[in-house]
Amino acid sequence: MGGARYKNCRTQIMAEKDGFVAKVVSGAIEKEKESLKALSHEIWSNPELNYEEVIAHKVLTDYLEAKGFAVDREFCNIKTAFRARFGSGSPNVCVICEYDALPTIGHACGHNLISEAGVAAGLGVKAYLETTGLTGTITVLGTPAEEGGGGKILLIERGALKGIDMSMMVHPAPFEIIMPNHLSCAQLTVEFTGKAAHAAAFPWEGVNALDAAVLAYTNISLLRQQMKPSWRVHAVFTNGGTKPNIIPEKASLHYYVRAPTSSELETLRAKVVSCFEAAATATGCTMKTEPVGKIYKNVVCNPILGKMYERNYRQLGVTDYEYSGDLTASTDFGNFSQEVPGLHPRYCVGGGKVATHSPPFAGVANTLESHAKTLLVATTLGMTCVDVLKGGEKLLSEIKEEFDKQMAALK
Ligand SMILES: [Zn+2]
Ligand SMILES: [Zn+2]
Repeated sequence: MGGARYKNCRTQIMAEKDGFVAKVVSGAIEKEKESLKALSHEIWSNPELNYEEVIAHKVLTDYLEAKGFAVDREFCNIKTAFRARFGSGSPNVCVICEYDALPTIGHACGHNLISEAGVAAGLGVKAYLETTGLTGTITVLGTPAEEGGGGKILLIERGALKGIDMSMMVHPAPFEIIMPNHLSCAQLTVEFTGKAAHAAAFPWEGVNALDAAVLAYTNISLLRQQMKPSWRVHAVFTNGGTKPNIIPEKASLHYYVRAPTSSELETLRAKVVSCFEAAATATGCTMKTEPVGKIYKNVVCNPILGKMYERNYRQLGVTDYEYSGDLTASTDFGNFSQEVPGLHPRYCVGGGKVATHSPPFAGVANTLESHAKTLLVATTLGMTCVDVLKGGEKLLSEIKEEFDKQMAALK
């Protein structure tokens, strides 16, 4: 993983074979290059958190409506979700926009670029449908709150994927993988309760909840030696007491627990909870642990979609990438990918040198180079959508057959 580089950022066509699809899709995107960049910049300049992406939502829905898409704002009764559609009938192919940011570090996951790519791919596919009169639907879905809020999980529960045959999205990264595995992820909190007392005058009267929290953190750090290399556990202290001269009565932590599959995740979560319990016993505290939100499932990338994407990527001149690989991050797209066939390529920006979720990556998410690379990737995504639409029912059933096999293997 990592280190892969892209050769160029151009959207020009490098090969003759099947040049027509590439020409139509890239032509439509090229024409809107400046406005797509402006749209992305507007989202980047106004970082908004989970379910509060009001500016991004307006920018994206206004733009898609102006470009001739039928737009459902506040889709599925979620204020900052949307659905934009063009065309009619089957296949119905969905591309995804994410647009939420991170607290204090802004667009350090580059979701403004994901929106840019989703909208650009949508425009490219729309142009192809208009040019050829082919039957089929392109859906651009606006999915809020990826960073911990599980927007896609809420959308699934409210029927957003009804009638959609498959969904695809792209995500910027410091590396290049077409079929990345992402971990399943659960969040949980733990709160320890002890007894307050003067920390100097009567410490023996107190029961220290902060000690319990520190012990829980330490227990889990010791557990790491027995953890598989693919497992991840990480936390922040969310309450460590109020004043040094009061023995803390309450202390709490917020944990993320990740593993490659749901069953491994359950194994790891049980070990983590045992560490909490041991800390409570040792200090004489009581403890309460609760899940936060819903579990993000591991991503299942469809190999037929992956191969088509790869062929299109190569046609546009990109040859330097990894086809598949393990990634220890997570995404609520995992839940989408286990509902309908999906693809979630990671593409390289920032020269492969800058880690996501760091302040410098927020800078990378708004460079001219990153915008250009995003549109190249969006062209690839759009061409892959066109491949699916052109393949019709026959291709659709092959993709679904593969999906069923993958899902059966997960059980
Ligand atoms: Zn992120
Ligand atoms: Zn992200």
